[in-house]
Amino acid sequence: MMILNIDDYHNIHRRDQPTLLKTHDINHFVTILLNSNPNIPKIPYYSLNNIPIHNPKGIDFKLIIDYINVKFMSKLGKSYYQQNEMWKQYLSDDSYENKLEFLTVHNYDGRVQNQQELRSMKNSKLVDFILHPLHNTKDYIKSANILFKVFEKIEQEDYLNNFVIPTICDWPGQVNLRRAITLRLNKKENSGISPQILSIIPMIGPLHISLNSRETLFQKYHFFFEMIYHNLFGDNKVLAQKPKPRLINLILNLTFYGWKNIRNLIINRFGNIKDVEYLMMIDLLDNSLPLTLDIYTKLFRCGFFEGYLEAPLIFLSDVFYWTLNDHPILDILKNNLPIFNDYFVENFHSSLRYQTAESNTDKQIIQKAKTIDIERSNDGFKNTFINTRNTNISKVKLISLEKKVSLFLLSLFDKIYHNIGKSSNNNNNVFELPSFNNRNVDVKLLPLAWSTSNLPENNRFCDAENCLSSNSSNIILICGHSYHKECLSLLNEKCKYCFNYLSESIKTNITSLNKRLFKPLKDNEISEFVEDKDLDEDYNDENIDSLLEQEEYNINNQYEIQYNIWLNYNNM
Ligand SMILES: [Zn+2]
Ligand SMILES: [Zn+2]
Repeated sequence: MMILNIDDYHNIHRRDQPTLLKTHDINHFVTILLNSNPNIPKIPYYSLNNIPIHNPKGIDFKLIIDYINVKFMSKLGKSYYQQNEMWKQYLSDDSYENKLEFLTVHNYDGRVQNQQELRSMKNSKLVDFILHPLHNTKDYIKSANILFKVFEKIEQEDYLNNFVIPTICDWPGQVNLRRAITLRLNKKENSGISPQILSIIPMIGPLHISLNSRETLFQKYHFFFEMIYHNLFGDNKVLAQKPKPRLINLILNLTFYGWKNIRNLIINRFGNIKDVEYLMMIDLLDNSLPLTLDIYTKLFRCGFFEGYLEAPLIFLSDVFYWTLNDHPILDILKNNLPIFNDYFVENFHSSLRYQTAESNTDKQIIQKAKTIDIERSNDGFKNTFINTRNTNISKVKLISLEKKVSLFLLSLFDKIYHNIGKSSNNNNNVFELPSFNNRNVDVKLLPLAWSTSNLPENNRFCDAENCLSSNSSNIILICGHSYHKECLSLLNEKCKYCFNYLSESIKTNITSLNKRLFKPLKDNEISEFVEDKDLDEDYNDENIDSLLEQEEYNINNQYEIQYNIWLNYNNM
């Protein structure tokens, strides 16, 4: 089987020193990398009952809404962390070694000696590396045509006529390639696009999903993570608005480990309290945070398909269509998930960046890319790049940082406990949070319920429209709505308000996406995406290694004391 990576590369080296950016022109290259693995079956275009791999309807919001209704809504009762308990047997444990690996998992840098199972580059081959932007649909079509030419040259056109090539790329790549496919499917020859484009199956790269979702979560709750950061490393340390991915990764992981130590104490003390601040923090710490951390590190890399599907909705339309039609691609995906990866191209770019300088000309960079590709198959080459950089954090240090987070969370939740019921709704979309220095936050930071048109009731516990006022037990869903057990079972365990809200937003989003996909090609195509968001990033963080070098004073005593105080709350 063959898998394609298409991605853009630019010759900026030191993004942490923005002043350097202006000293020379930024050049863009396209990397086209093909992975072949003879042990994995080729994916045919047609299923045995003659169903094509592309859904003629394009992206089908009805399929996604069905999936949400059948598989997802009843899970809203539990946080991701609670559900994760059920998966534990399939996934790796919480040992120090595993934690260390999770801290470096996004270092697709070939020099980090980790995760051998995925990092074998011996089956990947550079198809081409050209000086060309990758901004719009035409650029993607041009890149795909380069690949098709190579197939002609090696007389493998048969492959393109009968089998497909999953193509792993970022979000702009998804939209642009899907648009080319949609246009070819619907306008045939009149589209001006070669029929071979139909052998491309765009799939979003898991590394991209994971990096983006970590960054998004961090940005969204920046005010909270900044409190954690100052608590860990001191008030005088500066946290950039957009920190480096490695720092984001460290803070997110430490926050989660610190939360795990004490989550039961906190949940037991609060019980079934419908407080906005409390439910916001539970949704963040017990739901969004562990899900974000797991997408790539556990679910994807361990090949846990059902778990992975929870994340990227866009992919579901395809997966559901293949399921309904019994297309063979589904089993190949399930059995070989970790190879459907953008790791290969990121690793290639990392080697290239490491072996070139900003002063290199375009020709020198292209030459180097081709040399790297040839040399990569030698074993000797690989070893010279291994083990020169690693995140070093001792076991003692890790535990101490985790406990610091735990202590901080205990004191924060103590504040929240004393402010129960005091958050105020300033207007429809802004809430004032007393435990966060009366900070005003958008409802989007609160659990889903506050985005729906049926806000949780203030005056009574149960949010059910036809509440039976029963005396059955009380349940607060992770969406923030609350029900009597009996009232919820009348709704088939699904929160109707949130289902309606989700269905509507999916319908709106997919409809507008489909509009973009059906838009005919113009002579002068413009990019629909804000270009190179990572180029103008303003990294002014403290150096992560020096942050970690700081001396830690012993907080075990303090931790024990607080832990016992909270245990006593629960026994009262
Ligand atoms: Zn009720
Ligand atoms: Zn709800």
